[in-house]
Amino acid sequence: VSKIAPELPRVAVVGTGYVGLVSGACLADVGCHVTCIDKATAKIEALRRGEIPIYEPGLDEVVLRNVEAGRLRFTTEIAEGVADADVVLIAVGTPTRKLDGNADLQYVYAASEEIARALDHYAVVVTKSTVPAGTGFEIRRIIEGANPTLDFDVASNPEFLREGNAIGDFMKPDRIVIGTDSERARQTLEALYSPFTSQGFELISTDIISSELIKYAANTFLATKVSFINEMADLCEKVGGNISDISRGMGSDRRIGRAFLQPGPGYGGSCFPKDTLAMVHIGEKALSPATIVEAVISVNRMRPHRMVAKVVEAAGGDVRNKTIALLGLTFKPDTDDVRDSVAILVAEHLSQQGAHVRAFDPQGAAHAKSILGDAIRYSGSVDEALRGADLCVIATEWRQFADKPIEEYKRLLADPVIVDFRNIFSPDAMRDAGISYYSIGRTKVV
Ligand code: NAD
Repeated sequence: VSKIAPELPRVAVVGTGYVGLVSGACLADVGCHVTCIDKATAKIEALRRGEIPIYEPGLDEVVLRNVEAGRLRFTTEIAEGVADADVVLIAVGTPTRKLDGNADLQYVYAASEEIARALDHYAVVVTKSTVPAGTGFEIRRIIEGANPTLDFDVASNPEFLREGNAIGDFMKPDRIVIGTDSERARQTLEALYSPFTSQGFELISTDIISSELIKYAANTFLATKVSFINEMADLCEKVGGNISDISRGMGSDRRIGRAFLQPGPGYGGSCFPKDTLAMVHIGEKALSPATIVEAVISVNRMRPHRMVAKVVEAAGGDVRNKTIALLGLTFKPDTDDVRDSVAILVAEHLSQQGAHVRAFDPQGAAHAKSILGDAIRYSGSVDEALRGADLCVIATEWRQFADKPIEEYKRLLADPVIVDFRNIFSPDAMRDAGISYYSIGRTKVV
């Protein structure tokens, strides 16, 4: 993008993590001037050197291109970052509060206060972070308290990008959601997203609460699809039936859709676990229970235990002193994110039961190490993990695991036994290759 549209608002992003960095870089790419702010000095210094602190396909190019074009800057200083901003996006984390499962809003509130103190001109303060219904009003109160004479508006603009496909999702969104009670803020945000709406991407305009709830409704509904299909897979394991066929048969109905109907080890990652918990808390607080979401959570809570039980069964009833090659540590492929990854939980359980776990992940090993430490060992390649192992567990569907010929699994493993949490191989091919194969919701090959 070479032209700079002068009418586009200038943007500051507070919190330069997955969402903040991707949003900032993509908004710069469509012509906005963007400053990304973060308290983490090392992160900002790395970005200033041209190093991208997270693994996200294509992100490095977008960042570098826009830094070179002078549209994207990085700073640790909030005052400098918001100095000429028309729009301030809050993209800090909202993790689960240990105490009660609600979203922990301390970072959002702290950022709001810092923004209020730093602003000396009109701006729209926008939550991109996922926040419970009513947070926008609380942010307004905080800003009014910290800077009583400031002219500002608040708005909600939830982010729907998926890690691993974040650039594509941001640049070609299914929809953009804007929630605000102020006409001026609405116009500013419509101008911000005009490079997208002019290409035909849909913008849904709502009040603040609806916008905040849309994000939770969408994520908890997707989590519901995942828990639903996982429960169906469990049923298949009891009564027979092939979950892959069932998923296809169901998903081909356009009213249902195929996405998020792949059975697996349960949802993980930095969003579904915390957003489902927060949804239940929002419902409880409002005396309007989110009963379906409660069931979704309890189905998902059982998944890691079921996965461990499957591995124990495949190991002949005991994993003690067995060497297990664990392929995949991230919660899904094409990311380095291991937050709430089922693979990590399974690795922990197996090593507690006396197994020697040897893991390989193309991107997630460093983050996994910070959680698991030396409870497991880390291999530099798939082959190294597999060589001489008693059993292989496929926990994440990285492309390279499926692309590897099954004969090589057979050749490298001491015992040809594979437990596949992602159904990346066909049971028939495994039977033909002489490999014992345990997958999800399909007949075992023993
Ligand atoms: P993250 O942990 O990757 O990044 C948050 C960043 O904010 C960190 O770098 C942290 O140092 C910084 N920060 C915290 N307080 C700050 C402050 N006061 N000033 C400056 N920087 C500060 O988080 P994330 O994964 O990008 O998620 C951010 C929000 O977006 C969450 O609410 C999340 O639910 C939501 N979200 C995430 C995704 C996703 O795929 N990761 C998708 C959609 C929505």
